[in-house]
Amino acid sequence: MAAILPPAMLGILGGGQLGRMFVTAAKRMGYRVTVLDPDANAPAAEFADVHLCAAFDDAEALATLARSCAAVTTEFENVNADAMRLLAKTTRVSPSGDCVAIAQDRIAEKSWINKAGLPTAPYLAIESVEDIQVELSPYLPGILKTARLGYDGKGQVRVKTADEARAAYANLGGQACVLEKMLDLKLEVSAIVTRTSPAQVAVFPVSENIHKNGILDESIVPARIAPKLAACAQQYAKQLAEALDYVGVLAVEFFVLGDDSLVVNEIAPRPHNSGHYTIDACVTDQYQQQVRAMCGLLPGKTDLLSPVVMVNLLGDVWGEDGSEPNWAVLMEAPNAHLHSYGKKQARPGRKMAHYCVLAANVDDALEQARALKDTL
Ligand code: ADP
Ligand code: MG
Repeated sequence: MAAILPPAMLGILGGGQLGRMFVTAAKRMGYRVTVLDPDANAPAAEFADVHLCAAFDDAEALATLARSCAAVTTEFENVNADAMRLLAKTTRVSPSGDCVAIAQDRIAEKSWINKAGLPTAPYLAIESVEDIQVELSPYLPGILKTARLGYDGKGQVRVKTADEARAAYANLGGQACVLEKMLDLKLEVSAIVTRTSPAQVAVFPVSENIHKNGILDESIVPARIAPKLAACAQQYAKQLAEALDYVGVLAVEFFVLGDDSLVVNEIAPRPHNSGHYTIDACVTDQYQQQVRAMCGLLPGKTDLLSPVVMVNLLGDVWGEDGSEPNWAVLMEAPNAHLHSYGKKQARPGRKMAHYCVLAANVDDALEQARALKDTL
């Protein structure tokens, strides 16, 4: 299929911060962008050419998107996969609705990861109450996770005993879940891969991710792991993209265990919070890759230009009256880059902004990044 070139109109389902950064990348290249998002104040809408302010399954809005856009993508993994399949009948859609559907469901996701030959934590798929009436000791102590709609640690319950696991399952209303063995994590890392059509694959440098309360707090690149282990994470990400016949940007989260082995945690069918650093520190960033993949272009080079640390800023850093953090010191730091998402309302736990600090090595970048956070 012919490549889609600027100033073609591109469409995106979802207008959050990932959509905003996608729009900025696409607009810089000269594309026009239509955003579908039900929120009148969606962060991506500010920069989009067209904002379809409607539900993600709104038939009329989807028809407009299909008619007016040369290609459509998503920034939001809980987008209706059927809506994506419908759009694919009349316009180019990537990633496919089928791939998005897999990433939306922890049961399908884990079985695909295993099918691709990659390890997951030991887990039990629980689709009905009978499924949890088995010997649970291989998965305990564990985490019960809802199969669908979990993010930032939501929809998860930590359980120690079989009784606790069964009670927690009942408490979640009997919806489909996975019970996953709690692993002793040395580190968490992620690898973000871009696969295009015609099939070519490029992986970004591996990011080391530090979470607080189940939410990403800091990403450190290069990850402080052996080069062999980083190469293995990149290889796993490629293998997964191949197995899924994936087109687009795919984020793969990993656990590093005490024996330096890797376990795949989960995947996201889109750019990822842990890849925001690519905007400031890589030859091509993850949003440019998303544009390239959806337009039938080959991936750009992913080389890291500088060690970098990304820090997420949640609504907790905003004042109770909604006042902005004190940006003065951060804005004057010559090696820091602020990205604020323009969200109207700050709430605790809500991702509002991030910044990246570039330095000669990750230790310096981390020290400076943390010192800057203390000034906000
Ligand atoms: P979410 O979709 O909310 O990101 P995750 O499955 O990635 O859900 O879990 C969030 C965080 O919880 C992980 O980044 C990790 O820190 C911790 N976690 C999840 N599963 C396990 C596990 N099996 N063992 C140890 N820690 C885990
Ligand atoms: Mg996660």
